[in-house]
Amino acid sequence: MPRKANGRADKHRDDDRMPGEAPATEQNGHAANGQPAADGMPMTGAPASSSTTMSGGGSPAADMGGGGSPAADMGGGGSPAAEMNAGGSPAGAGMAGGGQASGAGMSGATDTGGQTELPNRRQCGVMDVHRRLLSTNPAYAAARSALETATMVYVSREERFTGVARIPCVVHVVWNTNAQNISQAQIDSQIDVLNRDYRATNPDTSIVPSVFSGLIADSRVEFFLATEDPNGNPTTGVTRTQTSTASFGTDDKVKSSATGGIDPWDPANYLNIWVCQLGGGLLGYAQFPGGPANTDGVVILHSGFGTNGTAAAPFDLGRTTTHEVGHYLNLFHIWGDDGSGCSGSDECADTPNAAGPNFGVPAFPHVTCSNGPNGDLFYDYMDYTDDRGMVMFTTDQVARMQATLDTVRKDLPDFGSGGTPEPAGSIVSWGANRLDAFVLGTDLAMYHKWWNGSAWGPSVAGYEYMGGICMSAPEVASWGPNRLDAFVLGTDHALYHKWWDGSNWGPSATGYEYLGGVCMSPPRLATWGPDRLDAFVLGTDRALYHKWWDGSSWNGYEYLGGVCMSPPEVVAWGPDRLDAFVLGTDNAVYHKWWDGSSWNGYEYLGGVCASPPRVVAWGENRLDLFVIGTDSALYHKWWDGSSWSGYEYMGGVCTTAPTVVSWGSDRLDVFLLGTDFALYHKWWDGSSWGPSVTGYEYMGGICTDEPRVVSWDTNRLDVFVTGTDKQLYHKWWDGSSWGPSVTGYEGLGGVISDFKVTVPDSPASIGQGVKI
Ligand SMILES: [Zn+2]
Repeated sequence: MPRKANGRADKHRDDDRMPGEAPATEQNGHAANGQPAADGMPMTGAPASSSTTMSGGGSPAADMGGGGSPAADMGGGGSPAAEMNAGGSPAGAGMAGGGQASGAGMSGATDTGGQTELPNRRQCGVMDVHRRLLSTNPAYAAARSALETATMVYVSREERFTGVARIPCVVHVVWNTNAQNISQAQIDSQIDVLNRDYRATNPDTSIVPSVFSGLIADSRVEFFLATEDPNGNPTTGVTRTQTSTASFGTDDKVKSSATGGIDPWDPANYLNIWVCQLGGGLLGYAQFPGGPANTDGVVILHSGFGTNGTAAAPFDLGRTTTHEVGHYLNLFHIWGDDGSGCSGSDECADTPNAAGPNFGVPAFPHVTCSNGPNGDLFYDYMDYTDDRGMVMFTTDQVARMQATLDTVRKDLPDFGSGGTPEPAGSIVSWGANRLDAFVLGTDLAMYHKWWNGSAWGPSVAGYEYMGGICMSAPEVASWGPNRLDAFVLGTDHALYHKWWDGSNWGPSATGYEYLGGVCMSPPRLATWGPDRLDAFVLGTDRALYHKWWDGSSWNGYEYLGGVCMSPPEVVAWGPDRLDAFVLGTDNAVYHKWWDGSSWNGYEYLGGVCASPPRVVAWGENRLDLFVIGTDSALYHKWWDGSSWSGYEYMGGVCTTAPTVVSWGSDRLDVFLLGTDFALYHKWWDGSSWGPSVTGYEYMGGICTDEPRVVSWDTNRLDVFVTGTDKQLYHKWWDGSSWGPSVTGYEGLGGVISDFKVTVPDSPASIGQGVKI
């Protein structure tokens, strides 16, 4: 609910301004914030390996066809989602009301054998701890006050961190009965839940009514079991301690070996999660940031932890940990912890003022504190509903959590690995010897620079400011000479559009056209003819949605079904033809196509993929698809006009999804980053792969984002990457040699924000096996 003193509750929006955008200050500056650290080429050198092969293979899943994994062959069906037709409702559109009413006092199980008492309504002990610390620990009160001030400043500046914060966790299992010594599978299931809930990839956001769905926010926080203990030794990230204590309370005794529990690992570097028997119907409790180090972390009742083993309904979906970690990241209960009054606040402007907690799974709407017609936001993780009723964080809650991770908990997250780096920006060419590059600055505004055939505009290291606060890297298409269309997501997850018509930016230089939607993936664009644009996104139900410009107006969002675990990939090989590719819940590739009159598919294309699919068409009725396998090698599959090939193994140990481009008939160029984060290249010349089927050309650099490549003519390639200094770098193939050199790069200035997307539940996001 809004904090009264904080007047940012009503962000008004006009159609041509991004939400949250500062009123046109007309920063005449052309320079992307921050200036180039160096105008040399820091990216050269530092190759970890100077060989031309990316030291390939040796992989279990080398043949993507067979895979070994049971999910590899989905032909026989199994999970309903495999068919990709598992429905759901359109995100922004239908989304009719919430779950069924089931009164506050769900009867719930009371005894499943043994002495375990199972709570039947949520009860969290965070405020007991908070009040105790406030009254006994003056340093806590001071730290809380300082953090609230820092958070207010952070939120008011609309700051966000970029990339994804990955938090190392240690789970301390403290058990008295054998049943309480929960399984690894139960622990793993909880980490999976945290990753879905904090990235807003949990499919049950579909229960949120459309009036609230625009508030659903991706916190860009992920969790993993620590792989290194405080002494630097390998660890599973789990400790197990037998105790004689039958049941613990909010007094923190579980957090010390002297009192029947186990001491935390250094809370500056780990999220400590104790799992034990709690008494008095308590499901869990947390310590807000700013408290004593030796008790920092969350405590969860074992039967409210994870989704299997001892987890018991109605708290068997892992949401207790999602809720308590929310407190740990400085979120308050959504009703403001003032009993049942209307004066408390959770310090978030976008949550409705609410009276007291909601229990069970309430019926929508539940109006309190004059918050009609929509009432309480009881779908929020920070309410007291049952696990199946809480499915979302809001944008302002995310801002508070990010403020915490950027301040008092700044040493905790690892921003360095995991997730699929999104390309830093979009590069397009609308004609010969013409390039347009779009990136985000550290302020998350869009910036533009261009090559006009003889020079970079506005300057080699300069950028044109294009406004906005963008939550996805720009996606840009050109359907004709001197025409550009750029798309991004706003902070509300809606799609926004701006365009260059040859003489002006529409709707204005720094303005954006609002295209609605609540998008859970970056947009992907295709254009199959003049004045035609096709945009694809995932909705909150993870189904694919399509929106198109037909030359005179926007249509859609058209629902295309599926439960997609990767952003879509889209190509058009001819007029009125579209081919879309996604990963299914089994991490196989699925294909859907528009043939000019109707949609077909999803067609199952197999594979167990650790990257989103990348597809290019070098001619009519021709498609070449590339993915990374679970062995981190590259695989290739193609449609020759009549049938699909199998997956061809192409070697490599790749740390990004492949980037593919074609400059002519029967020609393919593939670019990747290796484990040394250098750029690697391979090509199909019409008869064979160079330098070899599994070999790669080494192109130097230490790149922090997936490369972007464009070709404006036959035998011409322009490659763009970001360096460790976050500057944009460029190299080019002129038909005979690489400029400025095979391993060299031209620095193009800027300090560029990067984005990472993860493939939920893929091998890439579980454990440390594959860093994609
Ligand atoms: Zn709580």
